[in-house]
Amino acid sequence: MNYLKKIFGYFFRDELTIRHKLVNVILGCALLVQFPGVIVSVAVGTGLWGILTQFLMLLVIAVVLYWTNRFPDSPVPPIVIAVVGNIIVFPIMYFACGGYGTGIVMWMLFGAIFTWLLVDVKWGIVISLVNFVLFTGCLHVEKVYPQYVSYLANRNDEITDTSIAFAFVTIIFGSIFKYQTYVYEKQAMALREIDEALRELNEELEEANLRLASASEAKSSFLANMSHEIRTPINAVLGMDEMILRECKDKQILEYANNIDSAGHQLLSLVNDILDFSKIESGKMELHPVEYEMFSIMNDCYNMIYMRAKRKDLKFAIENDPGIPAFLYGDEVRIRQIIMNLLTNAVKYTKDGSVTLKFDFENTDEDNINLIISVKDTGIGISEDDQKYLFDSFKRIDEKTNRNIEGTGLGLSITKKFTDMMGGTIGVDSVLYEGSTFTVTIPQKIADKGTVGHFDERLNKRGETSSSDSDSTDSSDKKDKFTAPHARILVVDDVKMNLNVVRLLLKNTGIQIDLAASGDECLKYTLMKRYDVILMDHMMPIMDGIEALHRIREQADGLNTDTPVVALTANALVGAQEMYLSEGFVSYISKPVKGIDLEECLLKVLPEDKIVRESDGN
Ligand code: ADP
Repeated sequence: MNYLKKIFGYFFRDELTIRHKLVNVILGCALLVQFPGVIVSVAVGTGLWGILTQFLMLLVIAVVLYWTNRFPDSPVPPIVIAVVGNIIVFPIMYFACGGYGTGIVMWMLFGAIFTWLLVDVKWGIVISLVNFVLFTGCLHVEKVYPQYVSYLANRNDEITDTSIAFAFVTIIFGSIFKYQTYVYEKQAMALREIDEALRELNEELEEANLRLASASEAKSSFLANMSHEIRTPINAVLGMDEMILRECKDKQILEYANNIDSAGHQLLSLVNDILDFSKIESGKMELHPVEYEMFSIMNDCYNMIYMRAKRKDLKFAIENDPGIPAFLYGDEVRIRQIIMNLLTNAVKYTKDGSVTLKFDFENTDEDNINLIISVKDTGIGISEDDQKYLFDSFKRIDEKTNRNIEGTGLGLSITKKFTDMMGGTIGVDSVLYEGSTFTVTIPQKIADKGTVGHFDERLNKRGETSSSDSDSTDSSDKKDKFTAPHARILVVDDVKMNLNVVRLLLKNTGIQIDLAASGDECLKYTLMKRYDVILMDHMMPIMDGIEALHRIREQADGLNTDTPVVALTANALVGAQEMYLSEGFVSYISKPVKGIDLEECLLKVLPEDKIVRESDGN
């Protein structure tokens, strides 16, 4: 019984199609009939040829059965069955079993319809046409040559034969259709279940999506707040430190102050990296193209990296194609950021040898170029395997070896994202322990047809600039460039330390400065005194900077309804500048504020007659 179950299970296994299962049924039945047929033939002493023919039939059926189950995808076995049954067996039976008056007509009809269940449409049409010709051929041959037909003994036998054929054909087709319907229903039910499961999964995904969106929003606002909170104390630290660097003569203290300055800027760039990353991730990062000077980028990169490289005894050089346009149009800030990321990495990951920054270009059309920037180092290099993950966020390679080198693993992923945003490409060519070359290609508009010339030659002409000992905080930045003793400004900030930072940074300008620690206090001052400029913090408790600005503008008897107000804020999020300008501020300075930024801004907004420039002889 178990054995039978196994055989049945094999011939009706789930992965077989219905067509296959039908083929198995037919061949199985044929085998069951043919096998005793051979034995009977031997027993009754049929002639050798008769026995051989029966045996051959048995062999053919067995081979086809094996074939169809061994190679279930093969279309041949069903075609063989259809052809043998319709074209050989049934026509012979027509003449051997009594002709038109018997059940053979029904069997021939059965064969013709059954063909369509076994073979595909193309073969179905071919076999049906042949069937039609054969069937009508049989009818005509019987009519013309009735002597070829072995008629049954009498009409009663014919009726019995026809009735039996009718019963069999009905039962076989009935069973087939029932079985097909059963399988389709089973499949439909399975599909309905899958459908239901998918719907539930979809609902869960939508819910998860909503949760993610709100988590991402929470992350954004958390980052915005953190940015503000962290930048505010850094502002105080760096501002006060700048005062020490300006005023102190003690070498040891100056060294301490320099260290504070570099660590402070490092912390700041870390906060900026995390902010940039989250802005890019949330799709809030925008490009701000401007016209910029190529030489200025080269020169600043040189100044910023030269000392870092020198401290590690590395050679640092800039090479450039002198034909690069002198002025280009693009997002200068992000291009600088890309170059600085690559350069600081090159210095970080190189123990000895050199770092080379190279600028090339290729014309794409009359008004556009591809700016090609490459940074080459002779450092630790990156293995081919690691190169695949190089631009992934937070991915640091060879953490063990590099654990003494500071980094978040964000620099390259931000660099790649900026490059993508600008429609450019970034690639790396590196050999482990020999060095790496990072190459960035960015499309840029030409703003001026003049060319930049050789960087080295221009640098040599500027002499001192090239040997300037500075990172981003060039000491020349800290020199006051003007005085304005007759100008009066009001600084508004709820953090006392920040007020002092601004006051001290502007000390040498001689500007008269009033300090207000809240929006309310500011409004009292603006009723009493006329100011040339107001520097206003944004995020203050009770009345924020924007409200204070609107109230100044609307103040009845106010003396400052048209005084330029500059936003001075730690809010460094994207779109901040646009937001402040649209609110009515004339300009925007991001904290931590540097003396040079403050002075540059004041030079723009203070009345010209109150400014005494250094070049005026003062
Ligand atoms: P990190 O802040 O860790 O430097 P980056 O995204 O800038 O993050 O770089 C990712 C990783 O790529 C680094 O941790 C370092 O292993 C590898 N890498 C980047 N630049 C270089 C280079 N010039 N030479 C060797 N390895 C580098």
